[in-house]
Amino acid sequence: MQKNLYLDYNATTPLSEDVFERMLPYFREHFGNPSSAHSFGWKADIAIQKSKKQIASVLSCEPKEIYFTSGATESNNWAWQGIVRSLLAENPKEKIHVITSPIEHKSILAQIDYLKDVHPQVEVSLCSIDTNGVVDFESIQKLIRPTTKLISIMWVNNETGIINPIEEIGKLAREKQIYFHTDATQSIGKFKIDLANTPVDLLTFSGHKIYGPKGIGALYIKSAHPHVQISPLIYGGEQQNGLRGGTHNVSGIVGLGAACEWIETIRETEISRIGVLSKQLRNYFNSHPQIKINNSEAHSVPHTLSLQLSEKCEDFKIQKILSQLSLSSTSACSSKSGNPSHVLLGIGLSPEEARRSLRLSLGHYVQSEDIVKITSSFDLLNT
Ligand code: PMP
Repeated sequence: MQKNLYLDYNATTPLSEDVFERMLPYFREHFGNPSSAHSFGWKADIAIQKSKKQIASVLSCEPKEIYFTSGATESNNWAWQGIVRSLLAENPKEKIHVITSPIEHKSILAQIDYLKDVHPQVEVSLCSIDTNGVVDFESIQKLIRPTTKLISIMWVNNETGIINPIEEIGKLAREKQIYFHTDATQSIGKFKIDLANTPVDLLTFSGHKIYGPKGIGALYIKSAHPHVQISPLIYGGEQQNGLRGGTHNVSGIVGLGAACEWIETIRETEISRIGVLSKQLRNYFNSHPQIKINNSEAHSVPHTLSLQLSEKCEDFKIQKILSQLSLSSTSACSSKSGNPSHVLLGIGLSPEEARRSLRLSLGHYVQSEDIVKITSSFDLLNT
C-alpha cells in the first residue's frame, strides 16, 4: 500500500522547519511577558516588534497596523463586531447595512444571525456569484445604500481557490466611504499582497495556512487616512493599544512573523512550481471520464482543484482513494457535518453535486513525483 499523501494544504499546513527553529527559544529561554518592564519582558517585546516588521514588509503596510489574534476566525469576528460596536457607540440608533458574499468562511457567515439578534438595526445583504464562482462586482454596486457601512469579501476562497476582484471592490468602497474588510487567509504566499496600493481597511490572516503555528493570526487595521474606528472584541489589559486584551502569544507571534517572511522568499518559485503540477493534474482530470473540475483555471489560484465525481463512481473506490490521499470532502471545517458545502451550493452546484465533490489542495511539500501517485489513485475509478 502506498504512503498516504497530504493534499489538504487549504485546511492546514505543516510547520516549516525554519519557522519552528525560530520559535523554539521563545518557549523556554525567552519566556518573558512583553508587558513586563525588565530585561525578560523587553526581550519578548523586541521579538513582537520584529514580527510586526516582518509581516508589514510582506503586506506593504506599517508595523503598527498589525494586531495579533488567535487566528482568522477571531480576526473575522473582530473585523465585523468591532466595526458595528464602534458605530453603535457613536450613535446607538444608527442603521448599519453590511454587504458580504454567500461563499465566505463560516466565521463570517455565522455572524449574520448573531448580529441581527443582538443588534436588530444591523442588516446584511449577500451579493451574487457569477458563473465562474467569483463574487459579482456589479451586484455589490447595486446593493450599496446610504446606510452601508461595511463590505466584507474574501480574497481567495478556501474551497474553490477562486480569486475575487478585491482591488475593484476596495476602490468602490473607498469612493463611497464604506469600510472594506477582506479575509486573506488563503491569499498570503499565493500572490503579492500590496496594501500600500490596494484600498483595504481591514485584512484577516492566519499562521497555520502559511507553514506557521496554529492558534495565531492577525488583523491588519489601516491607521492612515481614512482612519478605521474599531472597538475591541476581547476586553482585558492594555495590550495592543487596548484593542485586544490578553498576554501576547510570544512564540506564536514569532512564528507568524517568521512564516510570513519565509513564504515570501519562496513565493515566486512556488507559484511557478505549483502552477506546473496543477496544470498536469488539470490535464489528467479533464480527460478523466468520471471527473469534472468545478473551479476554472483562469479564475483560481493553481493550488486548489475542486473535483466533482460522477454519480457512477462507486463508494468503495472513493473510499480507497481517500485512504491513499488525504484530501477534503468539503471544507475541512464542515466535512464532518455531512451537509453539502455552502460554497459549492453558492457557486451553483446542486446539493448532490456538492456532496460528490472533493477538494485537492497543493503545497510546498508536494513533489512532481507525487503527481503519478495522485493520478494512479484516481485511475481506480476507471477500473
Ligand atoms: N477564513 C478562511 C478563508 C479559512 O480558510 C479559514 C480556515 N479554514 C479561516 C478563515 C479560519 O481560520 P483559523 O483556523 O485560523 O481560525
